[in-house]
This record gives sequence, C-alpha cells and structure tokens, in this order.
Amino acid sequence: MARNAVATVHLSAIRHNYRLAKAQAPGAKAAAIIKANAYGHGAIPVARALAADVDAFGVACIEEALELRAAGISQPILLLEGFFHADELPLIDQHQLWTALHTDEQLTALCAYAPQLRHPLNVWIKLDSGMHRLGFAPDRAAELQATVSALPQVAEVVLMTHFARSDEPEEAQTVEQITRFNTALEGVDVPVSLSNSAGVMAWPAAHGQWLRPGMMLYGATPFMSANAVADQLQAGMTLTSEIIAVRDVPAGEAVGYGATFTCDTPRRIGTVAMGYGDGYPRHAKNGTPVLVNGQRTALAGRVSMDMLTIDLTHLPEAKVGDTVTLWGPALPAAEVAPWCDTIPYTLVTCLTPRVKRVYQE
Ligand SMILES: *Cc1c(COP(=O)(O)O)cnc(C)c1O
Repeated sequence: MARNAVATVHLSAIRHNYRLAKAQAPGAKAAAIIKANAYGHGAIPVARALAADVDAFGVACIEEALELRAAGISQPILLLEGFFHADELPLIDQHQLWTALHTDEQLTALCAYAPQLRHPLNVWIKLDSGMHRLGFAPDRAAELQATVSALPQVAEVVLMTHFARSDEPEEAQTVEQITRFNTALEGVDVPVSLSNSAGVMAWPAAHGQWLRPGMMLYGATPFMSANAVADQLQAGMTLTSEIIAVRDVPAGEAVGYGATFTCDTPRRIGTVAMGYGDGYPRHAKNGTPVLVNGQRTALAGRVSMDMLTIDLTHLPEAKVGDTVTLWGPALPAAEVAPWCDTIPYTLVTCLTPRVKRVYQE
C-alpha cells in the first residue's frame, strides 16, 4: 500500500442520518442534498446508497446532476439554484431534472422555452424571506405561482426559501423569516420547503412538505451547542492516515514551518502523511485534536502541504505505521472545526482527490 491518507465513507451511517431527518417530520418528503460531491463524500456512491430511500436529490448545478444521471441515478434531482443560462433548459428537459427559479431572468427564459418542453417539469420558486442572497420578493408568491403553473408541461410547483441563521436556535431572524414566508403564502396552496439540516433539527415550524437536509446526512452537527437530534447523528466519514516518522526533539527547539511550536520540554514528535494538499486546513492551530490508535493527542507545529506533526510525548508506544484519525465517529469534525476557525462543512467538502475514498456499507 502506498501513501495511506484515506477517507472511509460510512454509507449505512448516511442512510441512518437521512432516515433520522425524515423522522423529524413524519409525512414530509426530503431532498437529500449531495452538492459539492456530497460534501466531499462522493456524490455517486452516496446517491447509490440512498437511492432506495430518497424522495429526491438536490445539487448545485446541472454538471452535478448530469454526472449522477450518467451514473444511472434515476431519482428526481433538484437544481438548487436552477439554471445559470437558458441553454441548460433542453438538458433539464431531456434528463427530467427539477429546477429552482429565483430571478426574473430565469423566469423569462423558462416562459420562452416552456412550449418546447417534452416532459413534465417541477419548479421550485425561491422566495427571499430575509437571507438576501437568492429569491424573489415574498409578496410576489401568488403572481409567480400563477404564472409558472400556467406554463405548458409545468407539473408541481413548490415554494421554497432558505435560512441565514437556523443553526442558532435562539435567533429571532429565523422566526422572522418563517413569518415572512408564511405571510407570502396566504392564498397560495402549494407544497413548501424551508429547512436545511438545522431547520430539520431545530425548527419544527419550518418543516413544510419538503426538507432539504445536507450536512446532517454526513453526520456533523451545524449547531455550536448540544441538540437532541444532532446527538443521534452518525459520522459519515473517518479521515485517517499514518505516522511516517518519529523523532525526539529537545527542549527549546521548534517544529515545522515558521517555528510556531517550540518544545517547552523534550518532546516526541510524530510526522503524519496528511496536509493541506489533502484538504486538511493549514490554519489548524497547535492543539487541534487527533487520535493515535484511538488515543487523543494534538497538532504540534504548522500543517504543511503533505504532512503534519503531532505530539507523541505521552504516547510512548506510538510508532511509524500507526493509524492517525483526523476526524471520525470518536472525534467529530464539528469538534475539530473550531480549532481551524471553520465549520465541519468545509473540513469534509475541501478534501482533495489525493485522499483515497473507501466506501463501507
Ligand atoms: C446546501 C443547501 C441545503 C443544505 O444545507 P445544510 O445546512 O447542509 O443542511 C439546503 N438548501 C439549499 C438551498 C442549499 O443550498
């Protein structure tokens, strides 16, 4: 075996997490969000693992959807941002994708193309309830729903919105967004979709007919504090590598680029085959937790492209070839993330292709 940097993807955990999401809102459907290569876990294997359970998949763009169709994924696929250019419409039709609609430019293009549609098309009209990134003004809900529903071939219309702060359970902004969205819906009788993972777990008032869980499928909590549902998530990935060198470093000597870690006492330092070239963040601080043979220790010295260094002083048995876990069931990515000034989303999503993916049922 060559360089041993491996992301083991736990497909049964991802299935468990999808079912956990749906269990929060009995009767609702859920689009499993597998954009960005399923947050780094591998879109095609994840889609195959979920295929028997899912109501739909959600991706960011048509390239991601076509990759899934080419792999034989036949479930509905929603383009969360719709089409970027009108020339995608024939492909959307051919591959029977579902599209979001969030601008007047998209609306104009859809109206122009609709007479040529050959298959039924589901359209998710996005309202801007307060995040101010995408979506129509909420007071246009009724008008847009009428216009889009009247187009030839348009089948189901869903009204959707997206939250800016649903991961902060005490925040009034989510209450405000729900209120604005519900106000816009008065007199419009269509299915609705509001909730990302945090909405699924913390905002039952926002469940509607369609959930859109992403991060929770991969087992990481979006919350900074405990949450009863998030506590039941199972880690979707274990990232491991191995120790490739061990040395004793005298007190007063520093380790690594920039000499950011100086040994206060003599220390035993292990070098691990994992670096920012694998997607492990370079700005992980000294003290970022890792596991060596299941025991906790920490980064000592700056992360370099292909390697990082850890303190083995209190683990005298640790040796070259031993397994190092960067995150996984016993060390949640959500616990590692704050050490890198980030959230678990980026840790898993930014893993590079150099990390070998291994799929475990
Ligand atoms: C990415 C995305 C989601 C999933 O969000 P998570 O926080 O990962 O659950 C849901 N809806 C939309 C529109 C998205 O872009």
